[in-house]
Amino acid sequence: MKVMILGGTGFVGRYLEADLLEQGFDVKVYGREAFQDGFDLSSCLENQDLLIMLAGENIGRRWSKSYKTALLESRTITNQKLKQSLQACQNPPKRIFSASAIGFYPESDCQHPVDETCTKAGSGFLGELSQQWEQASLALSPKPVIMRFGVVLGKNGGALQKMLPPFRFGLGGPVAGGQQCFSWIHIEDLARAVNYLIDYPEFSGVFNLTSPNPVTNRVFGQCLAQTLNRPFWLPLPEFQLKLMFGEGAQVLTHSSAVLPRALLEKGFYFLYPKIDGALQQILHD
Ligand code: NDP
Repeated sequence: MKVMILGGTGFVGRYLEADLLEQGFDVKVYGREAFQDGFDLSSCLENQDLLIMLAGENIGRRWSKSYKTALLESRTITNQKLKQSLQACQNPPKRIFSASAIGFYPESDCQHPVDETCTKAGSGFLGELSQQWEQASLALSPKPVIMRFGVVLGKNGGALQKMLPPFRFGLGGPVAGGQQCFSWIHIEDLARAVNYLIDYPEFSGVFNLTSPNPVTNRVFGQCLAQTLNRPFWLPLPEFQLKLMFGEGAQVLTHSSAVLPRALLEKGFYFLYPKIDGALQQILHD
């Protein structure tokens, strides 16, 4: 099977590439160059069985006005270019999987989680970004798979790599009060879920790629500190977070309890359903 990953040079794409190669797939990976003028994206798409679209500027930086535009356009204009390239193909990919994020949903707490049956999108920049991103993805094919990722946890990259330094120095603590809910997925389960979706050609629509057990920021931090054998004591107040990340602090303060209902209903099981097991594997195996 021929698989092409666009936006495949980042944290998730590199892991997926290695995983799919290991299973004997023929995998091609491209970064942002695939969307630059002069690049013949159409020819690359020709005769592929599956396209996995992950491209988008990294959300975990300080959001300036221009960076917000870049966050949006790297998800909308790229998809428009991709659509044109697909239309120019003689034999376009048979299936398309597009990344999205659980930032799509309105805020929720661990007592009142949401799942794919919630069709109301969240307000604020994260909700707006995800909506426009998904609209652009839906225009690519009649039956796309939309993968709403939770915060992806794995070795050597992603959110965990950014969170680890204060915890390693024994300076971990609750962020912005710590009551906001945190929906996450172990990167190995993310890759297993993608494989599961590949195995069933009839699957399409929205799938939350999140563990079935979201936790509060406090529980996550306590578990991280315990796994590293460090104390958990130093709170990071919201005002300090806003000074550091501006409006981008929302990524850490937005409360998101999202369940993977569609995957579970289709029989998928998680190797790392609980945060303690996931962190133990990532930090110690
Ligand atoms: P990374 O930031 O590690 O990688 C992003 C990928 O997108 C790279 O291949 C990068 O190419 C490409 N890219 C960046 N900017 C542009 C641009 N302006 N135009 C075209 N391509 C661009 O992200 P992840 O691997 O962590 O995530 C993959 C996708 O999943 C992203 O869309 C992300 O928003 C989404 N997601 C990830 C989550 C996570 O926790 N990791 C959570 C929720 C959603 P290059 O290497 O050339 O810069």
